[in-house]
Amino acid sequence: MASSKGVALITGAARGIGRAIALRLADDGFDVAINDLSDSAEELKEVADELETKGRRVHTFFGDVSQEQDVIDMIKSVVDALGSLNVMVANAGICIMEKVLDTTVEAFDRIHAVNVRGTMLCYKHAGRQMVAQGRGGRIIGASSLAGKRGYNIVFAYAASKFAIRGLTHSAADELGQYGITVNAYCPGATETRLFQIDDAIRQHLISATPLGRTGVPTDVAKLVSFLASEDSAFITGQSISVDGGNLFD
Ligand code: NAD
Repeated sequence: MASSKGVALITGAARGIGRAIALRLADDGFDVAINDLSDSAEELKEVADELETKGRRVHTFFGDVSQEQDVIDMIKSVVDALGSLNVMVANAGICIMEKVLDTTVEAFDRIHAVNVRGTMLCYKHAGRQMVAQGRGGRIIGASSLAGKRGYNIVFAYAASKFAIRGLTHSAADELGQYGITVNAYCPGATETRLFQIDDAIRQHLISATPLGRTGVPTDVAKLVSFLASEDSAFITGQSISVDGGNLFD
């Protein structure tokens, strides 16, 4: 087995963007820990099997990132199994499409529990682990194009993704002194199960995108690969779009 670049943990890795990030970071030479909810066990196991064929050490942890004890247990389990934590990718997120006049308190709170509280908990506990290790680290969060501008169909989701940029910038300000960088990726419309829209909206989005297509998960994984690498060592507090050229940034 080739020597490891360190240990990367990716939440929400059973499918979509998280899965693509896990596979890419394994190709980059990281040992990889993957997390998802237990009801995604079958898909997560398939990702683990695929990672193992790449010759890297792999660890799987089921847990809900919106629950603090789950996040504490997840980080401990990764460090016990793989020896350290060097890259934290707080990718897990949910989207419930509702406009302002229809948004329920239940949907608003659920979106914020997973997207905002879950990201906060991953930043907090990964940050604590990296500070204790004393060797710096990389913390990477999942914001969105909807974290830079609002859209009527994702009222509460957009608020949660704006909040993740706030967490990212503030954590970068605090953790830079320890050599830990904190950045976020901001995908545009990316073809995954989360992105459920009809063809008319898809065509509208494509026509408003200079590069003329929707994204695929590997578009995002390539940016995360860079943010996890030595080449991004002097970049922190940034929320970087990977969206085919959105001109509202
Ligand atoms: P997806 O639905 O395909 O995958 C998300 C994964 O997160 C799923 O496997 C799901 O089970 C897991 N998950 C959900 N809640 C969880 C929890 N509480 N704890 C642990 N895991 C949980 O979605 P995706 O499109 O791959 O999205 C990944 C991230 O990228 C999300 O944060 C999303 O908001 C963000 N994003 C996606 C798009 C897009 O167009 N697909 C655009 C911008 C941002």
